[in-house]
Amino acid sequence: MVAPNKNTPTPYTCDQTVQHFIGGQATSNIGCGHADVFNPSLGRVARRVELAGANGIDQAVKAATAALPGWANKPPLQRARIMNRFLALMNEHRDELAAIITAEHGKVFTDAQGEVTRGIDIIEFACGIPQLLKGDYTEQVSTGIDNWTVRQPLGVVAGVTPFNFPCMVPCWMYPVAIACGNTFILKPSERDPSAANFMAKLLKEAGLPDGVFNVVHGDKTAVQAILEHPGISAVSFVGSTPIAKYIYETGAHFGKRVQALGGAKNHLLVMPDADQEQVIDALIGAAYGSAGERCMAISVAVLVGDVADQIMPKLAERVRSLKITDGMDLQAEMGPIVTQQALEKIEGLIQVGVDEGAELLVDGRGHKPKGFETGFYTGGTLFDRVTPRMRIYQEEIFGPVLSCVRVASFAEGLELINTHQYGNGVSCYTRDGNVAREFARQIQVGMVGINVPIPVPMAWHGFGGWKNSLFGDTHAYGEEGVRFYTRQKSIMQRWPESIAKGSEFVMPTSK
Ligand code: NAD
Repeated sequence: MVAPNKNTPTPYTCDQTVQHFIGGQATSNIGCGHADVFNPSLGRVARRVELAGANGIDQAVKAATAALPGWANKPPLQRARIMNRFLALMNEHRDELAAIITAEHGKVFTDAQGEVTRGIDIIEFACGIPQLLKGDYTEQVSTGIDNWTVRQPLGVVAGVTPFNFPCMVPCWMYPVAIACGNTFILKPSERDPSAANFMAKLLKEAGLPDGVFNVVHGDKTAVQAILEHPGISAVSFVGSTPIAKYIYETGAHFGKRVQALGGAKNHLLVMPDADQEQVIDALIGAAYGSAGERCMAISVAVLVGDVADQIMPKLAERVRSLKITDGMDLQAEMGPIVTQQALEKIEGLIQVGVDEGAELLVDGRGHKPKGFETGFYTGGTLFDRVTPRMRIYQEEIFGPVLSCVRVASFAEGLELINTHQYGNGVSCYTRDGNVAREFARQIQVGMVGINVPIPVPMAWHGFGGWKNSLFGDTHAYGEEGVRFYTRQKSIMQRWPESIAKGSEFVMPTSK
């Protein structure tokens, strides 16, 4: 592999068909054809990806099942050492992975580097697995009897991930899952599949036994086969809400443990006492970074009192001057949208906003950067005077569109956010400690930022929304992740010397 160069990143241009990675080998011809993978900046097909059918999933389950006993029985410290070697390799190859992400997703290279870093954080967390798997022990729960709990792996587990974080979201799942002693099947998004194979190769290089981590590419056919396969114990999903709900219900129907993270509509509430320059910087970065294709992107600004009149002109000016071009240009602040279809959906919803009567301050539609006229580009769009009844307020647009809602008071803003169907992330900008405290306490959202626009929790805190943003009981990664990928066993023990003679017919109690 080529050594990373911090100043001039090398674009990823491989045109080979993306194969599956099963049992430590590149694997082909296990399913139902191919899908095109685009270079979104040029709007052209760059390579193709194989799509697995049910037989492909079955092959992966067989490889993962064969690897399971050896892996699950390996001492956690030995598993952690492999994760440590993998951590070093990920750090070494961070820029290559970032270039792959930019090539297939379109996000700017520096943002892709940030994504890889946040993925690496979880791998680092997983290196501490011996400590995380420690159980509880109570001596003498009754005379001569001790009781303790251990957490054991579930078996073969699967992850189904979205296009918008092809490295970081898989890293929410597999490092913790395999460190816990499970074997893993990853079904990444078919729109940007290459990052998953890159990580699979690094895991093999780190010494991970074949079959512990497998990548199967595919679409809904492969996902259905994962949900139905009796050899898979648990499924982690991240993607849009309708699919998350379907995965949760169907997985439960087939007896699996499921965590399914869904879509979002994240609000940033601005109080009149907030620092306006900081607010504008925060809104620009959080609404337009990664072209708004982040589940933690801010898509609604809730402006209290006269804040809107004060910040709107500057905000509009900043949106108009966003540097939008190919993601490998280190000056770029925003790249293209992932596909033509996604672009059309975003621009279609902008038209809905206009038709519904929102005030379109900046119209990003039809933006064509010089030299990349055929790419899937749109500019930043800014709406003012959006109301809660409008579709652009209710629905996830998942593009560079910021909707501003004006409210009279903190209480009105709180009520607005709390009644929204999504509850992934939220932020409040204020200088008032009591407002900040009450906001964090009363808001019905899973991840809260106070003067922090995108409060993605660090690796050891766990990630997850509320309401229609998460189906299931546990958040991703952190200690919640360890709980999801293990099950508790309680062991009660005594030795022959302390057993009193005679049978007991009453419920045992402490004596
Ligand atoms: P998506 O729901 O279209 O796809 C996600 C995964 O599901 C992909 O692997 C895809 O192949 C598979 N899939 C698609 N349609 C399916 C179907 N009918 N049946 C079974 N599987 C299917 O999502 P996306 O467009 O890739 O990603 C964007 C969405 O993901 C946004 O809604 C975003 O908010 C959400 N997201 C949420 C989080 C979170 O943490 N809550 C994080 C990242 C992205």
